[in-house]
Amino acid sequence: MSEKMIRSIAVMTSGGDSPGMNCVIRSVVRAAIGERLKVYGIKRGYQGLLNNDMEEMNASSVGNIIHHGGTVLYTSRCPEFKEKEFRAKAAQILEDRDIDALVVIGGDGSFKGAKALHDEFGISVIGIPGTIDNDISGTDYTIGFDTAVQTAMEAVDKIRDTAQSSDRTFLIEVMGARSSSIALKVGICSGAENILLNSDEEVNYEKLSSDVRRGIRRGKNSSIIIVAEGESPGRSYNIAKVLEQKHDISSKVCVLGHIQRGGSPTPNDRFFASVMGKEAVSALISNLECHAVVVRENSVAVVPLDQCMQKSDHAMINYLGVSETLSI
Ligand code: ADP
Repeated sequence: MSEKMIRSIAVMTSGGDSPGMNCVIRSVVRAAIGERLKVYGIKRGYQGLLNNDMEEMNASSVGNIIHHGGTVLYTSRCPEFKEKEFRAKAAQILEDRDIDALVVIGGDGSFKGAKALHDEFGISVIGIPGTIDNDISGTDYTIGFDTAVQTAMEAVDKIRDTAQSSDRTFLIEVMGARSSSIALKVGICSGAENILLNSDEEVNYEKLSSDVRRGIRRGKNSSIIIVAEGESPGRSYNIAKVLEQKHDISSKVCVLGHIQRGGSPTPNDRFFASVMGKEAVSALISNLECHAVVVRENSVAVVPLDQCMQKSDHAMINYLGVSETLSI
């Protein structure tokens, strides 16, 4: 490991936005200033880096943002960054500005970009997991998940009121591209009768319809089925059609959609975001060059970034059995 002196860092949010990203930005900026580092905020992730769109931040730049969802640095997807020639341009921009290290707040895709910048051009990088999906390997927790679950759970509670009053079955679709974590946690927390995992899983209509009928025989007059959107948002409409046409079960569909990305972050998200941002700055000062700040067993830790570059539902998937046991 080289012992280079870190004097100046940049922070960005990349990929999908999540509530709590502002808390991380605030933490990174203030911790950096506390260490007498210069800190730049890059706008719109890797796209902004390629456009040299950044400005120096100070303690006031991040004042009064801790309770706001979204990200004051904006975010975007930047397909060009998957090509080395564009990453070379980004590395040059960082070098021209004497920026020694980059803090990337985002998901596994954003981390792949950061790892490439490090491996190819020697830029020190540190990743902080920020996505509502809680689907990154190597960490039990991603910033924004708790708020998204809270929002979705409150929505399901409201729908349960009307479902119960009108003897209805509801399919409620929650976010999670290629991830079932939100569906699993919301399903358990809202006492859903069924949880359908992401669309790689074939829907077992026999089981689904027999579960709904068993509930009716036991005197339930309504059922809530949580559906992970998977690769194709809106898949619940098709599921409802099959249930109606082939199994004689009529249902209503509610797709929660982007409401799950917004809103004021929960205490859990604010707390971990604040701790993880400060930890990222400490890791860079300690000369760690290609790492991620993660949560394992409810504690914040710093691990090699390559442990965090796969999609994984490991933190939630084992809880499917809890839902199945409790929803009889
Ligand atoms: P997330 O970070 O939430 O997983 P994406 O997968 O869309 O979101 O990735 C965000 C951005 O990270 C992409 O738009 C791209 O700029 C960069 N990125 C993703 N995958 C790679 C990769 N394999 N190599 C380099 N950059 C990547």
